[in-house]
Amino acid sequence: MSTNQYLRPVTTEKREHIYIGGCDTIDLAKKYGTPLYVLDEATIRQICREYKEAFRNYKNIRMMYACKSLCNLAVLKILDEEGFGFDTVSSGEIFTASKAGVKMSKVLFNGNNKSLEEIELALELGVGRFSVDNFYEAELLNRISESKGKTANILLRITPGIECHTHDYIQTGQIDSKFGFDLSQVDEIINLIKNKYNNLNLKGIHAHIGSQIFEARSYYDEVEILIKEAARIKEVHSIELEEVNIGGGLGVKYTENDCPPSVEELAAAVTEAMQAALEKYNISEPVIYIEPGRSIISTAGVTLYTVGSVKNIPNVRKYVALDGGMADNPRPSTYQAKYTAEVANKVNNCETELVTLAGRYCESGDILIENIELPYLETGDIICVYNTGAYNYSMASNYNRVPKPGMVLVNNSQSDMIVSRESLEDLIARENIPDRLRQQ
Ligand SMILES: *Cc1c(COP(=O)(O)O)cnc(C)c1O
Repeated sequence: MSTNQYLRPVTTEKREHIYIGGCDTIDLAKKYGTPLYVLDEATIRQICREYKEAFRNYKNIRMMYACKSLCNLAVLKILDEEGFGFDTVSSGEIFTASKAGVKMSKVLFNGNNKSLEEIELALELGVGRFSVDNFYEAELLNRISESKGKTANILLRITPGIECHTHDYIQTGQIDSKFGFDLSQVDEIINLIKNKYNNLNLKGIHAHIGSQIFEARSYYDEVEILIKEAARIKEVHSIELEEVNIGGGLGVKYTENDCPPSVEELAAAVTEAMQAALEKYNISEPVIYIEPGRSIISTAGVTLYTVGSVKNIPNVRKYVALDGGMADNPRPSTYQAKYTAEVANKVNNCETELVTLAGRYCESGDILIENIELPYLETGDIICVYNTGAYNYSMASNYNRVPKPGMVLVNNSQSDMIVSRESLEDLIARENIPDRLRQQ
C-alpha cells in the first residue's frame, strides 16, 4: 500500500522511450498526433482503491468524484465501475453522467447559480441530491419541485470559516465567499424549509474548503466545525441530519518538491475528527460524503507535445516552443502552476541544459514550464508533461482558434481514443453568416 502520492502515472516505464499503460508514448504521438492528452486507466483505478481502502474504518462513507476536474463518458464509466458517485455543477455534467449510464441517484448537483433549466433537467433525470447554495435557489428549487409533484433531497451548502490555499489555511468566524450560507444564515434557511418549502427534504450539510490542499489538519478542523453545527441544528431545530458532505480538495504532487498528504493521511484526519466530534457533541454517526476531483484524476493524465521552434537568446534564456500551451493547459498562466516534464524520446540522455518550455499561443505569458533542465532538445522531440489529468482538458479553450487536442485512454498496452481531436470544421460548425451580409 503506497502512502505517498505519485508524480507520474503508476504504469510509467522508462525503456528507450517513456511508456505509459504499456504504450510507447512516441507511438501514441505518431498515431494520434500532438498535442495529445493520455490517460492511464490503471492509475485512476489504483487511486480509487486507495480511497476506498483508506476509509475502510468509516463504513458510512460515500465517495463522489468531482466531475469538473475532468468529465467525459469514458472517465465517468470507470469511476462508476469503481463505485463512485458524482459531484456535478452543470446540466452538461449531469447530462454526461446520464449518458455514461450512471444511476442518477448517485449524482449530487452543486453550484452557486443553478439555472431554472438546469434544475428542471436535474429533477427530471432524478438527481439524488441538490446542494442548495442560497435563499434564491431554495425558493426556486421548491417551486419547480412542487410544479413537478416531486420532493428534492437537499444538503445545505455552508461556509464553515476555513479557507485553504495550498500550503496554509486560515480559520475565521466568517469568510468572504460566493458559495453557500454563512453560518449566521443557517437558522433562517432551516426555518423556511420547515415552515414553507414543503418540497425540500433536508438531509444534511455540505462544505468545500478549497483545492490543492496540503494540510490534512484543515480537514480535521472542518469535520469538527460541521459536526458542531449539526449538533447545534439538532438542538435548535430538533432535526437530526443524516449526511455531512466535506467536499474535496486534496492536493497532488505536481513537482518533486510537493508533499501533499496521502489519501491515507486525509482519511485518518477525517476519521479521527469524526470520532472525537461525535463523542464531544453526542450525535449519531452521519453518512460522510467526500468529493475528490484533482486527487483522483490528475496523476493519471499526461500531455504529449512536439518541439517546434527554438529561440536561444545568448546569456538570457533558451525558449523551446511546443505545439500546445495555455489553451490546453491554462493552469501555468492562470495560477502560476508548476509542472514536471521529460523528453519521451530521450530517456537515456544524461547531458542536460536549462530551457523554458513556451506554448504556441500569442501571449507572452504562455509559458508552460519556466527554467527546466532537459536533455538537449531538437525540433521533433516529444515532451511529456505529467499530472495534466485534472483541470486541463476541463478548462481548455479554442483560444487563437486552435482545435482542442484529443484524449486517449491507455491500459495493458492498448490505446483507445476517448475524445477525438477537434477538426478545423468543428471550429465553424455552429457559425453562420446572416443572409443580409451575403447579399452585398
Ligand atoms: C471543486 C470542488 C470539488 C473538487 O475539488 P478538487 O480540488 O478537484 O478535489 C469538490 N467539491 C466541490 C463542492 C467543489 O466545488
